[in-house]
Amino acid sequence: MHLLSVMLLLRGASSLQRCTPLRSIRGQIQMSTKKSVTIKRGKARLFRDGNPLVYGGAVAETSGGLRRGDAVNVVDGADNKIGWGFYNPDSMYRVRLLPGEADVDDNDAVLGAVRVLIEAACARRGALNLPNDATTAFRLINSEGDGLSGLTVDAYGPHLVCSISAAWVEARRAEITAMLEASYGGAKVIWRPAVSRLKSEGLTVEVAEDAGAAVEATEANLAYEVDVLGQKTGFYCDQRDNRAYLAPLCRGKRVLDLYCYSGGFALAAAKHGALSCVGVDSSRRAVELATRNAARNRLEGTCTFTTSDVSAFLKASDTLYDVVVCDPPKLAPSARDLPKAKRKYQKINALAMNAVKPGGLLLTCSCSSAVTTTPGAFLGILQEAARDAGKRLTVLRTAGAAADHVIQSAFPEGAYLTAVLVQVVDGR
Ligand code: SAH
Repeated sequence: MHLLSVMLLLRGASSLQRCTPLRSIRGQIQMSTKKSVTIKRGKARLFRDGNPLVYGGAVAETSGGLRRGDAVNVVDGADNKIGWGFYNPDSMYRVRLLPGEADVDDNDAVLGAVRVLIEAACARRGALNLPNDATTAFRLINSEGDGLSGLTVDAYGPHLVCSISAAWVEARRAEITAMLEASYGGAKVIWRPAVSRLKSEGLTVEVAEDAGAAVEATEANLAYEVDVLGQKTGFYCDQRDNRAYLAPLCRGKRVLDLYCYSGGFALAAAKHGALSCVGVDSSRRAVELATRNAARNRLEGTCTFTTSDVSAFLKASDTLYDVVVCDPPKLAPSARDLPKAKRKYQKINALAMNAVKPGGLLLTCSCSSAVTTTPGAFLGILQEAARDAGKRLTVLRTAGAAADHVIQSAFPEGAYLTAVLVQVVDGR
């Protein structure tokens, strides 16, 4: 080693904090901390550019006796720091990188860095005017989008429902609860571990069934009961802007809300003067929830909900609707599933198109990141479906998730939702 480097390193060990970056003679930052993960040659660029998920295949070696959930520095082969994050040997995401700086050997500094990110996420929602008089249901923290990979928080009035999908969050629940309470006035924090995702992080967690406080929230002046023991965190805030766009177009129309969950699209349409709204979902629990939500807003005269598989419902019905919404669950969990998922989307969409009156509207969605991030994939599927159904489509609008589902430009995979509004006419 060059003499000057040795002197600098010795100085660092004696008079500087353990993990203070040291300048090498080439002016690059070197780390003296022991807890580190070294990235393979040729892979460092990706993470330097901001991708927060370090796969096992990108790791050359680890040092410092790392344990699950530890804060670590991530370095390249020449020991130049790329960033810092949380380590998990059991996860396919070996390190989840967080933005900013933290002394990974100092627990207070690590928690301080997390606090800064939580405060920034809250401030960002303030800039989006969330919450407001009409809407108290929104996404407060969007995992990678807010630089907090593994932590998703949805706000429902004073209740903050936290979905944990990473070991580092699970290990720091108490501290994060305190941070949320401090950053979000009056917060009542409810934890909802994503059990299957945590399993793939090497953790088995118990979900307390009594975690289901009576949670209510509003969206666009509609009141919703939120089932925090139900799907995801209890409500799909991601469709808020799409509901707001579609609802006024439903005035005086007959609407079919496929995969309706708690009834968001149907209720929004009914509030804007739809003649009738029919919601369909295979989950009885969801249908009961949607039915209660309609009553809660005195829209039970317009909205009815049915428990059924969507394909079975469409095959058995010859009713035509002015507006159809098709919002299935994620059909392509990963890029590997794409070919199979394409066929499923195609079939469902052909059926949905056949339920639209000539000249009517179809809002069709995919919440599979693999579909959304493959350019042209969803439109291609819709075109195939239109051919199968003997329809012609005019695309009126293409959108994603609501603005509070923020995305990092360095992590475009965060854009999972596509919502395409088409006009459907007969013929090719
Ligand atoms: N549009 C809803 C969210 C839909 S989430 C909203 O705005 O809130 C997807 C829904 O599809 C879930 O409620 C799930 O229960 C339902 N689902 C899944 N598979 C189904 C199937 N084969 N037929 C009908 N519903 C299904």
